[in-house]
Amino acid sequence: MHIRVLDVKKWAGREERQNFFEEWPAAVQERTEYPLQGLAELDVSVRNTGGALIVEISGTAHVLAVCSRCLEPFDLTVPFTTVEEFREEPGPSDPDQDYYRFQGDKIVLDDIVADAFGVSVPYAPYCQPDCKGLCPMCGTNLNRETCDCQEPHDSPWSLLGQLKFPDDPSSSHH
Ligand SMILES: [Zn+2]
Ligand SMILES: [Zn+2]
Repeated sequence: MHIRVLDVKKWAGREERQNFFEEWPAAVQERTEYPLQGLAELDVSVRNTGGALIVEISGTAHVLAVCSRCLEPFDLTVPFTTVEEFREEPGPSDPDQDYYRFQGDKIVLDDIVADAFGVSVPYAPYCQPDCKGLCPMCGTNLNRETCDCQEPHDSPWSLLGQLKFPDDPSSSHH
């Protein structure tokens, strides 16, 4: 996955846009345990500021996620965006610098797309905002059916009332 910059890198102030609808690079799938569904949808713009090229990406991914409450698989949409600076310099990008290096007429987008996607995948996704989850007693999926399990009779608060505290030392007599 790359964007051609042969023209845009020639003139400061020039900007180009490109829409991508293609296979995901392998680096993106490596950022999540959830299988990617469908193709990559990306809107990429590259702007020449004089000294550098600014690449702006806005994308959407669909993954087959597992709900962290009810454990059902569901189609999760993951929008992501990123803005990165590229400079035409020899050698590999230096992680200590706040820009990436490129050479020639194209910029490979795999790694910055993978990074932007990776930080946007929720750690504990829900199939719906009000997912009721599983009954902790019998495991029934409470989104689909109800069960006969009762709320536990003893709440933590009623147990507090049964605790015995030692006598308050300030009230003891000498
Ligand atoms: Zn759920
Ligand atoms: Zn139950």
